[in-house]
Amino acid sequence: MQKLKILLIEDEEDIAALIKLQTELAGYKTVVEADGLNGLRAVAREKPDLVILDIMLPGQSGLDVCRKIKAAAETRDIPVIMISARSEEVDVILGLELGADDYVSKPFSVKVLLSRIRAVLRRGKDMPEKESGAKSLTFGQFTLDLESYQLLKKGKTIPLTLSEFSILKKMLKHRGKVLSRSQLLDEIPNSDSFIVDRNIDVHVAALRRKLGPNFEGIETVRGVGYRFNDEDE
Ligand code: CA
Repeated sequence: MQKLKILLIEDEEDIAALIKLQTELAGYKTVVEADGLNGLRAVAREKPDLVILDIMLPGQSGLDVCRKIKAAAETRDIPVIMISARSEEVDVILGLELGADDYVSKPFSVKVLLSRIRAVLRRGKDMPEKESGAKSLTFGQFTLDLESYQLLKKGKTIPLTLSEFSILKKMLKHRGKVLSRSQLLDEIPNSDSFIVDRNIDVHVAALRRKLGPNFEGIETVRGVGYRFNDEDE
């Protein structure tokens, strides 16, 4: 079987060497570029299955590179995982809104990076067609009925507000992906700029209460937003 190809755009040589080594040990073929311009050329040349992109790059920033990858029809479906420093949460949010699929922050463990890589590649493969025409979405013991706007647990209805329904639906359609507050806010019917991002936290808190104390699928991603994890992951 042909190896999946990763393009790593990272200017710090030590980190680049470590990621290349570890991803190749894990069975991927990894190509490294050290700046945005060569990175974009390599995206076109190598047609990678996944791009790992440092945010702080010399010349074009990682955000510029991400924007260009996601703007071009030939490359927009290539998943992008950003690498950021702790202090770059704002950039992470921007990157997610530009279409990046996930991020890890430095310093990160190789284990976390590899699990993100696997999750993003898996999502790219089976999510779109599997759930685009679905009438309901299931997770654990719950079913979200997209036609009746109801949440069911073992046949029992749990009432949701329209905002809660919309947020949960968005999360379920992007399982495993970090969503920023404003990406979730976009889903709320009739929301406008007067609603502040923090309102999302109120809706999510209410959702968590309704899902019950045993449900831990909604993860708070500090400083960035939320991520929905399936319980078997
Ligand atoms: Ca860097």
